[in-house]
Amino acid sequence: MRSLVWFRGKDLRATDHAPLVEAAASGEVVPLFVLDPFFFAPERARKLPHRMQFLLESLRHLEAEVARLGSRLLIVSGRSVEVVPRLALQWRVDRVLAYRWSEPFGRERDRRVAEALGREGIPFRLFEGETLLPPGSVQTGQGGMFRVFTPFARACAAQLGPQAPLAVPAALPPLPAGVATPEVPLPSLEALGLVPNPRIQPGGEQPARIRLAAFLEDRLDRYHMDRDRMDRPGTSRLSADLKFGTLSIRQVWRAVSEHGGPGVPSFLNELVWREFSHHLLWTWPELLERPFRPAFVGFPWREDPNAWEAWCAGRTGYPVVDAAARQLWGEGFVHNRARMVAASFLAKHLMVDWRLGEAHYLAWLTDGDWAQNSAGWQWSAGCGCDAQPWFRMFNPVAQGLTFDPDGAYVKRWVPELEGCPVAFIHTPWKAPKPVRVRLDYPDPIVDHAFARERFLATAKVHLGR
Ligand SMILES: Cc1cc2nc3c(=O)[nH]c(=O)nc-3n(C[C@H](O)[C@H](O)[C@H](O)COP(=O)(O)OP(=O)(O)OC[C@H]3O[C@@H](n4cnc5c(N)ncnc54)[C@H](O)[C@@H]3O)c2cc1C
Repeated sequence: MRSLVWFRGKDLRATDHAPLVEAAASGEVVPLFVLDPFFFAPERARKLPHRMQFLLESLRHLEAEVARLGSRLLIVSGRSVEVVPRLALQWRVDRVLAYRWSEPFGRERDRRVAEALGREGIPFRLFEGETLLPPGSVQTGQGGMFRVFTPFARACAAQLGPQAPLAVPAALPPLPAGVATPEVPLPSLEALGLVPNPRIQPGGEQPARIRLAAFLEDRLDRYHMDRDRMDRPGTSRLSADLKFGTLSIRQVWRAVSEHGGPGVPSFLNELVWREFSHHLLWTWPELLERPFRPAFVGFPWREDPNAWEAWCAGRTGYPVVDAAARQLWGEGFVHNRARMVAASFLAKHLMVDWRLGEAHYLAWLTDGDWAQNSAGWQWSAGCGCDAQPWFRMFNPVAQGLTFDPDGAYVKRWVPELEGCPVAFIHTPWKAPKPVRVRLDYPDPIVDHAFARERFLATAKVHLGR
């Protein structure tokens, strides 16, 4: 049995890799990665600089790991829908194995690959593993997807098995004779026209394991208390690992569950939010383009290029919102609480279409994930599934005072506020004039009370139609 194992950017590991294990257990293995221009054409890659950096590093680790196991990761360029069926035929493989993706364009790609392979009589087998449970398999009593998180989480808990990760194969057989491609080296960031950002987390299975171990050791026990604190390193920072699969979701679930302690339930609950977003997108693929709540279709978002630019640049005059903007392009990450405040601010205070923010986040986040980002934005804008109600608006000042009481988060990312007394750190416009003059920081782009009234009045009319 000769199996082509197609690695595809969400499974960049050798441990707990079901297609690899299955292939290694049954004969010859051809490990493949395709540099598809959908992501790797320089003009496309330049639009996702941080993800590309993490992805390339992770691929280098994977290449080394596959070599250590005795084989070679073949790297080829081209459109996967053409390359994979062509090479499968040329290399006379008996089957192609890969992990399933939940996004609509991934599903379409797989449908086309399956069709082309099917014409040649080559089976294409997709494995579950991006999520804890196959998307679409957690259903209400009536047989549909849940529209509320809590009963979804309860149903997940009832269905979840022991989540035992698979070990890395002890060895891989060498590439079969006759299976070769012209060497295509992994492109460097520079070749793609990108400048490496030293603040991006290192990608790869080894760094991911170190991050997981450090989280278990240092932060899991306090996770439930610290996870909302923007000024503390209280969360796992495993989101990019889960996105690119340098750790599998069940490795993380298992490691955290086995560790035990007071932070565990709260952390596992966040993994179920991840699960929820993927199951939602599986059920309603149109969520990447449309609000979950149909009443929001045609919402009169404002065209306001100045507000949009100020929000992106971190110059709105609201410190938490600005820190979030700068953390995003500074290190390709934003604390969850800051994401919620900044996203809500864009959609509700500035009334700028959340889809612009969603695309901006997807471009700059290292963990930028279609399902989770879409769910996060729709939740924050009030139009999502089990979202923050539309009439509830985060007050960015109150959020700052509660979750960054000394302003450490804000000062880290907005150095202009370094000299601002703590008492005014979230309201620098209220500081005494001599202090304000020294700060070189803008006044609020919009008054909170005014913005609140404006959004609520507009939403009331639109949603009440
Ligand atoms: C506007 C907005 C956009 C977002 N975009 C993304 C995105 O593109 N990619 C992404 O992975 N997460 C996204 N999130 C969810 C969340 O902010 C991040 O997962 C989290 O901040 C990552 O940090 P962490 O790994 O330290 O999280 P932890 O608190 O340690 O959580 C552990 C894991 O649980 C998952 N998780 C945590 N919170 C959520 C959540 N609210 N929804 C879904 N999954 C969650 C993540 O996989 C995370 O790595 C978004 C949230 C909002 C409000």
